[in-house]
Amino acid sequence: MDRLRPQLTYVFLLPMLATAAAVLGYYTWETASQYEQLGKRSIAQSTLALVEERVDRIEEQIISQDNAVFHLVDLKNEGGLKESWLPLASRISPSTRAVVVLNAERKVIDYSARDSKNGRRAFLKLFRRRLLPELKLDDLPLERLRHLHTRVKRRNYLLSYKAVQHEGEPYFLVLHHDVGYLVREELTKLFGGEVRYNVVDDENRRVAGESLAGAGDYLVGRRFPTTLYRWRLQVAPDAAALLESKGRSDVVNKAALIGLSLIVILLGMVFLMYAAFKERHLNALKSDFISNVSHELKTPLSVVRMFGEMLSTGRVANDEKRQQYLEMIVNESERLSALIENVLDFAALERGQQNFELQEADLGELVMRAVDTVRYRAEREGCPISVEGLRDLPPVKVDEQAIVLVLVNLIDNAIKYAAGEPIEVSADVQRREVRVHVRDHGPGIPAESVKRVFERFYRVRREGPSIRGSGIGLSIVKHIAEAHHGRAWATNAPDGGAIFSFSVATARRAVQPASVEEGSHA
Ligand code: ADP
Repeated sequence: MDRLRPQLTYVFLLPMLATAAAVLGYYTWETASQYEQLGKRSIAQSTLALVEERVDRIEEQIISQDNAVFHLVDLKNEGGLKESWLPLASRISPSTRAVVVLNAERKVIDYSARDSKNGRRAFLKLFRRRLLPELKLDDLPLERLRHLHTRVKRRNYLLSYKAVQHEGEPYFLVLHHDVGYLVREELTKLFGGEVRYNVVDDENRRVAGESLAGAGDYLVGRRFPTTLYRWRLQVAPDAAALLESKGRSDVVNKAALIGLSLIVILLGMVFLMYAAFKERHLNALKSDFISNVSHELKTPLSVVRMFGEMLSTGRVANDEKRQQYLEMIVNESERLSALIENVLDFAALERGQQNFELQEADLGELVMRAVDTVRYRAEREGCPISVEGLRDLPPVKVDEQAIVLVLVNLIDNAIKYAAGEPIEVSADVQRREVRVHVRDHGPGIPAESVKRVFERFYRVRREGPSIRGSGIGLSIVKHIAEAHHGRAWATNAPDGGAIFSFSVATARRAVQPASVEEGSHA
C-alpha cells in the first residue's frame, strides 16, 4: 500500500492539475473575451449616440423648414406663394424645391417651385400622377404634419404635407424636399472626419456615403423615424476596419497564447512526474547501495578479524594453515581498500570535486600497470590475464591514476563475474581514439541490462548465489572515460562472455582538463 500511495497521488494529481489548467485557460479566455466585448460595446454605444443625434438633427431641420414654409402660406392670397415663399426660399428652406396648395377636391390651387420652367412643369405632372395618389389625405387631422418618402422612376422623393382650414374649408399644403440636397449638403456638414457614414435604403442599397464593409461589429445604424423613413443612416468609427481586423488577430493570438501556456503547464507536469519517478527510483537504488556497501565492508572485516584473532591466539594447526590465513587476511584487506577507494572516488565524483591531472602517457604502459596490480588476485582466482596490441599505441593525454582505476575496476569485475576463466585485455586505435577492451568468458550481460550497467547503483539481478558488489564501479568507469572525451560501453562476445571497453582521445586532439559535474555520469 505504501508503494502504491505515491502512484495513486499521481493518478489523481495529474488529472486534477490538467483540469485546473483547463479551467484557468477557460476563464482567462472568458475574461479576455468579456473585456473585448465590453470595449466593442462601449465603442458601439458612443457611435450609436452619435448616429441618433445626427438623425434627430436632420429630422429637426426638415421639420423646421416645413413649419417655416407652411407658416408663409397665405390662403387668402391665392397664387401668393411666388411672393411670400420664393424670395425667402433659399434662406429659410434650402432643401425645399416646391410648394403645392390643394383645395378640398385635391385640385392644385397654388404651386411654386425653385426650378426652370420645364422643371416646374415636369414636377407638377409627376406630382399629380404619381405622388398625389400616395398622400394619405383622407381623414388627415388638421395641422398634423405628415411625410411621404417614396421612390418613383428610381428617384427618391420626400414630401411634407398637412391639412389646414380656411373659412371652414379644408386645404392641403404640400412641400417637396430635394433629398439629393439633404444628403449632399446637410448630412455632409454634420460629420467631421472622425467617423465614416453612409445612407442605405430599405433594400440595403447604398444611396449616399461610402462603403462600410469591413466595419463588422463596429457598424451602427438608425432609421429616420418620421421624414426619410425608408432610409437608414449608418456610421462606423474611422478605425473600425482596423479595430475589426485587430480583434480577429487578437483572438488568434489569445488562443495561441492560452494554448501554449496549457501545453507548457502540461509538459511541466509531465516533467515533474517523471523527475519524481526518477528520484524515487534513485532513492531505492541508493538504499540498496548503502546496504550493499555495508555488507561489502562487513564481510571482509569479519574475515580479517576472525583469522587475525586465530593467528594472535596461536590457534593454528601448522605453518601451511598460518600462511593460508595470512593470505586470506591480505586478500580481504585488498578488497576492502579497493571498495573504499571506489566509494571515495564515487563520492568525489558526486560532489563534483574530482579534478583530473592530464599528462601525456602511453596507454599500453598504464594497462600493464593495472594488470600488475590485479595479477596476483586474478591468478589466485584462476583467471590468467593475457594482453594484446599494447605496443605502438599513439600517446594519450590522461590522468594516469584515473585510467588505472578504470582498468582495475574492469578487470576486477571480470575476476568477480567470470571466476576461473581467462581474461584478455587488448587495445586498438580507431580514428582519433585509443580503445581498450577487457574480455572475460563468464556469463555475459543480459541483453536488457547492456545499456544500464553503467548507471550508478545499477546491479544486474541474477539467479544463483549473489555476487557481492556496490553498483558504482562501472559508473566511475563511464564518468572517467567521458571526462577524457571518450566513452565506455559493454557488449557480449558472440562465443560467450562480456567485453567491457572504454576509449580516450589521442593526444593530438586538444584535451582540456575536465572537472566533473555532479550527476553527469549516471
Ligand atoms: P558491482 O560489480 O559492484 O555490482 P558495477 O558497476 O561494477 O557494480 O557493475 C554493475 C553490474 O554490471 C554488476 O552488478 C554486474 O551484474 C554487471 N557486470 C559488471 N561486469 C561484468 C562482467 N564482467 N560480466 C558480467 N556482468 C558484469
